[in-house]
Formats: sequence, C-alpha cells, structure tokens
Amino acid sequence: MAKETINWHDRAKALTLDGRAFINGERTWSRAERKFDNLSPIDGRYLSQTARCDAADVDHAVAMARRAFEGGRWAGQAPAQRKRVLQKFADLMMQHKEELALLETLDMGKPIKYSLVVDVSLAANCIRWYGEAIDKVYGEIAPTPANSLALITREPVGVVAAIVPWNYPLLMAAWKIAPALAAGNSVVLKPSEKSPLSALRLAELAFEAGIPAGVFNVLPGYGNEAGAALALHMDVDCIGFTGSTRTGKQIIQMAGQSNLKRAWMELGGKSANIVCADCPDLDAAVAAAVGSIYFNQGESCNAPSRLFVEESIKDKFLEKALAMVPDYAPGDPLDEKTVMGAIVDSIQMKTVMGYIDSGREEGGKLLAGGNAVRKETGGFYVEPTLFDGVQNTMKIAREEIFGPVLSVLSFTDMDEAVKQANDTPYGLHAAVWTSDISKAIRTSRALKAGTVHVNQYDGDDITVPFGGYKQSGNGRDKSLHAFDKYTELKTTWIQV
Ligand code: NAD
Repeated sequence: MAKETINWHDRAKALTLDGRAFINGERTWSRAERKFDNLSPIDGRYLSQTARCDAADVDHAVAMARRAFEGGRWAGQAPAQRKRVLQKFADLMMQHKEELALLETLDMGKPIKYSLVVDVSLAANCIRWYGEAIDKVYGEIAPTPANSLALITREPVGVVAAIVPWNYPLLMAAWKIAPALAAGNSVVLKPSEKSPLSALRLAELAFEAGIPAGVFNVLPGYGNEAGAALALHMDVDCIGFTGSTRTGKQIIQMAGQSNLKRAWMELGGKSANIVCADCPDLDAAVAAAVGSIYFNQGESCNAPSRLFVEESIKDKFLEKALAMVPDYAPGDPLDEKTVMGAIVDSIQMKTVMGYIDSGREEGGKLLAGGNAVRKETGGFYVEPTLFDGVQNTMKIAREEIFGPVLSVLSFTDMDEAVKQANDTPYGLHAAVWTSDISKAIRTSRALKAGTVHVNQYDGDDITVPFGGYKQSGNGRDKSLHAFDKYTELKTTWIQV
C-alpha cells in the first residue's frame, strides 16, 4: 500500500494549541493569569498564549506533587503496575505521533520528518524502556558479618524538578521524566519558554495513560521566574537540568543556597571530531562531519562543531564536504523533504550571525554559507556555514554557537590535535577516525569527553549513558545509570 501523503500545513491549521499549565491532572492558567505569546520560528505566526507561571504556581505544583508522593499514589504502586502505565503512556505517544511531531516543528522549527522519526519516536522509546526496566532493578545484600544482614535498596528521592531546553523539547523531557517516574518520584517539569507546547500535551497523555493526578505536572514559564522558583524551592528534593553551562552554574548555586537538593546538570558542548589521514572511509567521515553539525540546524549539544583534519587529506576532505553542504540548504520545515529547518527564534539567529561575523573578523576563511535566508517567510533561517583556517583560540572554536556553523582546523601531529581537542571548558562528545586500532584506543582514552566515537559519529541508543566531563555537566542521562540521579540508596542493617 502506498504511504499516505500528509499535508502538514493543513494539519497545522486544524491543530488545537493549548498553552495552559498542567497541574494536578488539570489544565490551568497561572494563578496571576499572566501569559505570553508563543510564536513559530517557521514564519513568525502566532501559535498560542502560554501560561507564564511564577513562584506561586511553583508552590502549588510542588505541593500537589508532594501530596501525590507522600500519599503513595504512584510510588506505592508495584513496579510491575507502574511499568504497565508507562507502556500505555508510550503507546499513546505513538498513537499521537503526528500531532506531537507537528507541535515540535511548529514550536521550534525543526523539519517535520525528524520530529516524527527522531524526537517523538525516541521520546516514546525512552518512556517504554524505563517502564520496562523498573521491575528488573534489584537491590543488593552487603557482605557483612554472619550475625547481620544489610540490605541496600533504592528509594525514589521524592519531588523531582526537571528544567529542559528548546532544542529537543520532547526528548529532553523524556530523558528526565522517564527514569524519574519509573523510579516512583513525582515530577514538576518546566519546558523552555521557546517551545512549551509538546511537553504540555505530553502531560495530558501521561494522565490519560493512568499516571495519577499530581505525579506529573508541567509548568511553562520563564527561567528566571518558574525555573528559579523550582531551583530555590525548599520542598523539591532533586533537580534535573539540561541547558546552557551559564544557567547550570546558577542552578547549582540556587540548589546550594536552598535545601541542598540534588542537582544534576547536562550542559553545553564544543565537541572535537578528529579525522586522521588513515581514516578507513573518507566518504563516511565527510558525511558524518557535515551531517552531524547541520542536523537540527546545529542546535545540538553534542554537535561536532570543531573538525580537526590531518593536513595531508584536508584539501580532498574539504572538496567532498563542500560538495555536500548545499544538500542542507534550509527549507520549509513542514515539507517532508526538508532536512534543515528554522533557528528557534530571532534572538538565537542573531547570536549565530554574530558568531559568523566574529569568525570572519578573526581571520576564518568562509568557504560556505554565512547568510540569513528565507527572510520573506517571516521565519529565521541560516545557511549551513563552513569556516576553514580556524585556530583553536578563535571565538568560533571556543564558544558554543548552537547553530549550523562548522569550524575546520588542521593538524600534522596527533598529540597536538588531542591537546587542542581537550583545550576547551567542555567535554561532551568527541570522535576519532583512524584505521589504527591502537591509535583509536589511545586517543579515545586521552579525549576528555563523556562519549568518544570511533569511525562514526551518530551511534546512539537509550542503553548508553549521555553526559559530559568538565563544564558539560555531571551525572548521566539515559541507560540504567540515570536511576542513580532519581533514587536514594538506603541501607537497612538487621541483627540476625
Ligand atoms: P538555557 O540555559 O538558556 O535554558 C534552559 C532551561 O533553563 C530553559 O527551560 C530556561 O527557561 C531555564 N532557565 C533559564 N534561566 C534560568 C534560571 N535562572 N533559573 C532556572 N531556570 C532557568 O539553555 P537553552 O538555550 O534553552 O538550551 C541550549 C543549551 O542546552 C545549550 O548550551 C546546549 O548545549 C544545552 N543542551 C545540553 C544537552 C545535554 O544533554 N548536555 C542537551 C540539550 C541541550
């Protein structure tokens, strides 16, 4: 049977957009009835009014989350029952995948085809995987003297606040809420003010699946209002944050000055991709280098934004790379053929254009892109951009741009390349391409990053931890390790 062609523009017109918060099983405006307008980066169209939640709403949501937790509405259910509900939640997400994908694309500008196959599918898979895992996590018995029995068990921490960014609104929410909910916690999620709609719909689906009222609440609002109130709240036990390093530092301070809540940070990156002359497949290396930086408009924390190419293959590499760049020209995000969409808003576009100017001013050779395009749409689009001749000291090599800008640096000495790759405050991802297995292992060990790719860049799975060294954060999202963030270890010592 031929695949149905969806007219996403028509679907968008028919979509209900609801920017009200979701607290204790209900949609609601903020207590002070304050709102802000939510506009689409695709064409500047008005999408919805969104609740501008503040400290009073945070107090209310946290109180509801606390009541649900202490009442055992969710934590008191058998793990196998929580698993059934989470499976249903994931099923409902997939049943509503087109609606969720559309919300994602309208709100933050990414191409609809990726919203469908990447964002919604991976987020649903994440919920399913943690639901599946929770009745397989066993406690431990410590090797204590014979007259005792010491049990080591995991308990939910209580009320978890999750604050997430706009670049993968559903997926970043899922990475936090799935392990937190599976472990039995109550959650208050604050999505980014730039892309709140999909998380709000997610809360409705969770409730429909059977997650009890108060267990999963979503509060849209600004970072310095709703976000800061969550970070400072005395009755939030743990905060899971994904966002910029600058905000992460503020949140850790707020956690410290309030109740010393556990504070887990997933922050920025400036990942290095090292391609050696003995790279086993140059075409694959070029495709990964170009595809990974331009994917999601370059708005990915782990984008390989610094490319180190061995001098002897640089000309060939660049020739192939430049031939691919036009494939990533920005297009209509609601067209299924589009591979690069809109930048999230005018502020972010200005930031990206500012970095492009700085690259030019500091002597980078602009070989492709460099312009804002599709201005007639009213949206925010930047060409895929490539700078050659970049030095690691230049601003475009040191700071996270979070846009479609690739900086190419060259090297002749491998030790020097690794030294420069590590010469950054960040440590999220890195890669090395070589046919020499010893060189690959040596380099992988030397690179200070949470994930090191060898001869590929897009390897990823819910089973592997995601997180960074240095100022890219602490703790890890994904995999069974994420349970460490949302559970307390308890020892029960029994005299025999
Ligand atoms: P941001 O730090 O500006 O905002 C992130 C979230 O924090 C938003 O919800 C925002 O409202 C909130 N916030 C802002 N100020 C706050 C404050 N003072 N108190 C409490 N909350 C506050 O980041 P962004 O621009 O939304 O996202 C981009 C950043 O996220 C990039 O640096 C990117 O690398 C990072 N990121 C990291 C990962 C990862 O897993 N390491 C994944 C995705 C994005």
